[in-house]
Amino acid sequence: MSRRRHSWIPLLIALVIALAWYGYRSGWFSPRTTSVPATVTAGSPDAERAAQTYESPHLALGTPVDATPEDDHIIIKPQFVLSYKGEIVSPAWVAWRIDTSSYGAVPRYTGKFRIDTDLPAGLPRATHDDYTGSGYDRGHLCRSLDRTDTAENNLATFLMSNIIPQTHDLNGGPWLKLEDYCASLARDSGKTVWIIAGGRYTPDAARIGANRVAVPVSSWKVVAILDRGIDPARIESKNGIRLIAIDMPNTRGIIRHDWKRYRLSVDEIEARTGYDFFGRLPLALQDELEARVDSL
Ligand code: MN
Ligand code: MN
Repeated sequence: MSRRRHSWIPLLIALVIALAWYGYRSGWFSPRTTSVPATVTAGSPDAERAAQTYESPHLALGTPVDATPEDDHIIIKPQFVLSYKGEIVSPAWVAWRIDTSSYGAVPRYTGKFRIDTDLPAGLPRATHDDYTGSGYDRGHLCRSLDRTDTAENNLATFLMSNIIPQTHDLNGGPWLKLEDYCASLARDSGKTVWIIAGGRYTPDAARIGANRVAVPVSSWKVVAILDRGIDPARIESKNGIRLIAIDMPNTRGIIRHDWKRYRLSVDEIEARTGYDFFGRLPLALQDELEARVDSL
């Protein structure tokens, strides 16, 4: 009788173990938000060590590091990595990797954009409604069309931590054309493409919505395109590597513009944004490739 009464105990133990294992596999116990150590200086060995801390396929070519990393809240997601700045109520940058596996048949999510609950507590955060009636589009950084393999991955691009205010003429004009071009390289040409994008802000930036989201004066993007088969961790030559960098004004009247007219060198985007990009490329290669303006 007593053996019968306690026959549920092994079952309970098995359940707890199964739940703990599931939780471990799902990352319940690993911290998902990492702030860059406050003391590192861009370009220093400490900065490089800090950059190496973030293990994500989206950052395989390096984590963007600037001179004031103490206000960068880096959040690593399966779909992309973002660096959030409370000052602008927006991501400072979003980094993501695309290849042919990024594309599928999942339709675009159609609900309201979502608040990112992964953001550190106490930071101001944008809502869908902050943009409503503002005259600005909710401009995706990692775009919806680059995450069409699963509904979960597509939904992640609709987090407001992946969004900055863009004029419709930018969002639906040269910005879109470069997005389409990068997607065609990844989806149809077998390239692996790493993209980092953000906005450029002035101290007197316009603000929209109840949460006072800052409006950038421009949107920048740096792109690294690698031929199939190149291991990003073992790059020794410039063969099979192409970099594209652009900075596009957040204005009206540019919807028909070609993306190519906004090309600059990566060095110029580094100067304008204060970030060092592609820090894991060998230094001599960075110097050579980042000084060039793409002309294909
Ligand atoms: Mn867009
Ligand atoms: Mn660099």
